[in-house]
Amino acid sequence: MSKILIVEDEAKIARFVTLELEHEGYEVRAAGDGRTALQECESWQPDLMILDLMLPQLSGIEVCRRIRQSSDLPIIMLTAKDDVSDKVMGLDMGADDYMTKPFAIEELLARIRVNLRKHRVDRAQHSGARSAGQLHIDPASYSAGYGDAPITLTKKEFDLLNYLWQHEGTAVTRDELLNHVWGYEFTGDTNIVDVYIRYLRQKIDDKFGIKTIHTIRAVGYMFRYE
Ligand code: CA
Repeated sequence: MSKILIVEDEAKIARFVTLELEHEGYEVRAAGDGRTALQECESWQPDLMILDLMLPQLSGIEVCRRIRQSSDLPIIMLTAKDDVSDKVMGLDMGADDYMTKPFAIEELLARIRVNLRKHRVDRAQHSGARSAGQLHIDPASYSAGYGDAPITLTKKEFDLLNYLWQHEGTAVTRDELLNHVWGYEFTGDTNIVDVYIRYLRQKIDDKFGIKTIHTIRAVGYMFRYE
């Protein structure tokens, strides 16, 4: 039975979602603010978190950022209908998915199933450390390094590098990267891939004077260690 933490300060919504999820057989806890949410993550170790971005004290964005420093817990964020910047920021901070309020409970249940399944698949695919030259990554612990120097990557950066590396020597299209790394259609805007490739190059290629991520004109990107 999967454990789900709902973080929402509006008691009515929290109670409604809790009842629905319990009805589906999930084990559920609710947290009414960001600090409690972080404590629950630490002590209760949920399998998935539903995170409202509008919270008292610690914002949902900040909660997300802190959790991502040490965990790949699936996070579905709840955002206000028109708040595009919140949505983008939340995804940048490593949220896996989002729902806009008000939402249909059936849709939330479907998203929960999708994200729990994706997480299990990711875990399985990610097992197995890799190295090339002095560069090494370990998906089990989401750690990367060059020789003895650690490389600090966000979850998305790590997933992107890992995916490219899994397809070493093969050109991967931006759409494929969006699909596999971001997990769902990102409504056609593939710029985000280029942005994250730039981050990776700064942290790896530029920093250590190596070449790992190659641009394949009119196609996408390819991992090859040089
Ligand atoms: Ca709220």
